[in-house]
Amino acid sequence: MCWELIQEKEIMMFSMIGLNYWWFVIPGMLVGFYAQMRLRSTYGKYAEVGARSGITGAEAAREILDHAGLSDVPVEEVGGHLTDHYDPQKRALFISSDNYRGSSLAAVGVAAHEAGHALQHQAHYAPLKLRMAMVPITQFASYAWMGIVMLGLFFGLFYKLVGVAILIFAIISFFQLVTLPVEFDASRRAKERLFKLGIVQADERAGVSKVLSAAALTYVAALVTSVLQLLQFLAIARNRD
Ligand SMILES: [Zn+2]
Repeated sequence: MCWELIQEKEIMMFSMIGLNYWWFVIPGMLVGFYAQMRLRSTYGKYAEVGARSGITGAEAAREILDHAGLSDVPVEEVGGHLTDHYDPQKRALFISSDNYRGSSLAAVGVAAHEAGHALQHQAHYAPLKLRMAMVPITQFASYAWMGIVMLGLFFGLFYKLVGVAILIFAIISFFQLVTLPVEFDASRRAKERLFKLGIVQADERAGVSKVLSAAALTYVAALVTSVLQLLQFLAIARNRD
C-alpha cells in the first residue's frame, strides 16, 4: 500500500487546461490535503502513546502471522516514513523503521494492518485478488497519463487526447474503488487479531481504530480525486464536441 497521495497531477492540469474546470480540481485537492493532514496528526498523536503490552510493530505482525500459520512470511524493516506495505509477489511484509521498532499504538496498528493483507492473501480474499490483477494495467495507465501530460504541455495536443484521458482515469478510479474494501478489510482483520491475541487491550482499541481510519481516509480521498478528474475530462469532452 502507498500512503502518499499524488497531488502533482492536479497541479499540472492547471497549466494545461487553465482554470475553466477548477471546480473539479480544487475539491479533490482539498479532500486530499485534508486526509493527509488528518493522517499526519492522528498518527503523530498515537505514535506517542505506548501499547501496554510493550511489543513492537514487528513483533505484533510476527505474532499475527505465526498465529495464522504464516511463519514463512517475513517481516522486514524498510526506510522512509509510512512506507509500510505488504508485497503479494514476494509474500513479505515491509514495515517502516518507526513502526518496526516502535511499540506505540500507531506502530502496532499499522504493522498489524499490513499483516491483515497477508491474511487476505492466505484467505484468497476476492477484492485483493482483483486488485493484484489490476496492478499492471493501472501502472500502464499511470505511465500513459504522464505521456499525455507531456504531449499536452509541449505540443498542445491535450484536447485531442481527452478520450484517452477518460479511459485512463476510468481505470485508475476503478482500481481505487477496488482498493477500498481491501484496505478496510485489512484493518478489520488487524484489529480483531490484535485484540484476540491480547496485543491491544480493550481501552487501547479506540486509539488503534483512529489511526487505521485516518489511513483509510487517504484512500477514500484518492478515489474522490480520481473520480472528479474523470468527471472533469467528461465535461471537457462534452464541451469540445
Ligand atoms: Zn493496506
